Amino acid sequence: MIERLIFLSIQVGATIAVILPLMIHWLMNRRWIRDKIPAPKACKDEDLPFLCIVIPTWNEGNVIEAKLNDTIAQRYPSSKRRIMLIDSASTDDTVSIARNWNDTHDNLLEIIEMPARLGKSAAMNRAMQELVETDEVFVMTDAEATLEDGALRRIGRWMKDPAIGAVCGTLSGKSTDADYRDWYRWFRRGESYADSTPIFEGSIAAYRASALSQIESGANADDSQLAVLIRNEGLRALSDDSIQFSEKPITSAKEQHDRTVRRGQGLSRHFWRQRSRWFRNGRWGTILGVNGLQHTISPWFVLIGILAGIAHAGTVLMLGLAEWAEPMLLDRIMLLVDALVLASLALGITGLRIPLCASAVAFLVQNLRLVQGMLILQFGHSLHRWDASKTNRR
Ligand code: GDP
Ligand code: MN
Repeated sequence: MIERLIFLSIQVGATIAVILPLMIHWLMNRRWIRDKIPAPKACKDEDLPFLCIVIPTWNEGNVIEAKLNDTIAQRYPSSKRRIMLIDSASTDDTVSIARNWNDTHDNLLEIIEMPARLGKSAAMNRAMQELVETDEVFVMTDAEATLEDGALRRIGRWMKDPAIGAVCGTLSGKSTDADYRDWYRWFRRGESYADSTPIFEGSIAAYRASALSQIESGANADDSQLAVLIRNEGLRALSDDSIQFSEKPITSAKEQHDRTVRRGQGLSRHFWRQRSRWFRNGRWGTILGVNGLQHTISPWFVLIGILAGIAHAGTVLMLGLAEWAEPMLLDRIMLLVDALVLASLALGITGLRIPLCASAVAFLVQNLRLVQGMLILQFGHSLHRWDASKTNRR
């Protein structure tokens, strides 16, 4: 009986601890999303800012040529940009392909070779050291991401506004976890309207060169790290749905899992490092705080809640078999919650797509992967160097 009450209270407490920050975030975002920000003003070619476009690579031999072609195909005056490839000791033919490409393209690509592979964050730090006076915007874009037409121009237009310090794009199209991603995007948009988003999409991201400084190179989430750094300098960091890129989907479940854990670990560390700013100084502090809680603390409560739920259901059922003790109303409610969670997990696994249910499953899974990322770090494994997914680079 007493175990039952303990498990029950843990479960209720954990559920509240998870739902509360999420609810607050949701309610605030509903308000934020209403004050849309005007689109950036149109801009003549000669007024566009100068871009330093950086493509980081580690073993991208399969995609690098297409990426280079795609980059120069973007509508942006060629006198207003330079393109740099920063390679960290690839063991495949990435660099030789890039050199050959350069021979047929007037040497317009600058190739920087790092002597060792230290991860993307270290490569970005290195690339930033190459910035010169005339570079106004530092643009990073992943080797396997294809930019949709107009992406660079839109970045250039945003950067004409001196209050904007960072802009990133979003993945185009639908994927299997579209419901969950729509939620994710909705939050990033609301935060951008309200002030700034602390979660950036590095497949295409741009930063005002004059506001940049070095990031933590032994951790990933380079894109989000830079965005927050720039926002802390007083400039805004926006995620813009009109800047789009496409990527081939990852078709292997293991690759998908590994990437989510890796990215999650990057974000947990990123928010934890910023914890002294959580809930301080107006909206930005609130945005950092609610996201910070959700990426560092809430995932543990999700895990605790699930375990306590299993234990609670177990004890109630066992008691019921032994000597039927009348379950309390709260027992019944939590059993119902357990049943719903289990049912949605089961439905999620069978692949049946019921909108709210799929989002709930994605949310639970995401949180468990965040826990996994944090645990892996506690055991000394930082995931800032990784093998790229292969199924989206064929
Ligand atoms: P994901 O988008 O989070 O799955 O990460 P990716 O595997 O696509 O990597 C993002 C970009 O960083 C790609 O263009 C990679 O080639 C590049 N990258 C990854 N690790 C390194 C590294 O150690 N050094 C450099 N220079 N680039 C890297
Ligand atoms: Mn990528």
